[in-house]
Amino acid sequence: MKPKIIAVIILCLLFAGCSAGSSKEYVSDFFAMDTFMRITAYGSGAENGAGAAARRIAELERLLSVTDGNSEIYALNHSGNAGVSSETADLISFALNVAESTDGALEPTIYPVLSAWGFTTDNHRVPSEEEISELLKNVDYKSVTVDENTVTLGEGMMLDLGAVAKGYAGDEAERILRENGVESALIYLGGNIQLLGKKPDGSEWRLGIKDPASEGNVGILSASDCAVVTSGNYERSFTADDGTVYGHIIDPENGIPVNNGLLSATIVAKEGRMCDALSTALFVMGSDGAQEYWRANNNFDMILITDDGEIFITDGISDSFELDSAHTSLSVKILYK
Ligand code: AMP
Ligand code: MG
Repeated sequence: MKPKIIAVIILCLLFAGCSAGSSKEYVSDFFAMDTFMRITAYGSGAENGAGAAARRIAELERLLSVTDGNSEIYALNHSGNAGVSSETADLISFALNVAESTDGALEPTIYPVLSAWGFTTDNHRVPSEEEISELLKNVDYKSVTVDENTVTLGEGMMLDLGAVAKGYAGDEAERILRENGVESALIYLGGNIQLLGKKPDGSEWRLGIKDPASEGNVGILSASDCAVVTSGNYERSFTADDGTVYGHIIDPENGIPVNNGLLSATIVAKEGRMCDALSTALFVMGSDGAQEYWRANNNFDMILITDDGEIFITDGISDSFELDSAHTSLSVKILYK
């Protein structure tokens, strides 16, 4: 065989090898932050990257867990004043900023109230009005101060980053996958999804947007290179003796699980921690409040699903959303500025 032909054959084999290698899928399943998680990554760095990302999420859990006796948040909650890592201090400052911008709908000090409802132990109960109003006296993000790495809580306060930690974990997992040379990955952290790049074939990822009222998906959202985070009380809830269903997201105004007609809030933006913080806060605000907030803050897209069969979707992603054929009775309304 002529050398030229041999060279062409070797080149072809090399390219075939490259393209097969670059789309090699690696799936890593693990449990962290009380959530089943799955990283699906593609390419030669996928296995190392997914392993390192999973270890990083476990490390964040050890830092931020409200129940782990060795975590920084635990130390802070049990002393009222503690030196923490810059990373924990940054995330606390971030949560306090979002609390401020959402007028306390995101309330990182709601934990004692959440505990009274039994969401932290799974011993669910309905606390009395007196108990709730007593606990609410110590709920106020404005009484938390962060001075470089020293965090101080007001009297009787406890801090819980449960509404933002998974979003931040998604950002960190994405960063680590990128560092490992991964250009395509889907990071699934329960209600949080972080998308690194596009699918290996260059098309967008297709994500099911869950029907919060029943089984299945209300539709499919096509997206890439962003985070998509959903909050809803259907995710964790219990049914009281009188049949009332109570969910795990508390309205800080009255200390009672949110019940305002909004069934789920999905936020789409670049940063996972921002999506996570906003999905919880906008769920608390309800459909009208969430729409008002979106109009005043131009840096994210959202999908709101209400209990009267409406889906509100912002114009930035409306063309990327396909309503499911079994859900055509829902009315889709596009939100424009
Ligand atoms: P997410 O699933 O991100 O919406 O976060 C819900 C979690 O955040 C709950 O399980 C609680 O740990 C905590 N949480 C509940 N209500 C609030 C609230 N109003 N503000 C901040 N965190 C909350
Ligand atoms: Mg959240």
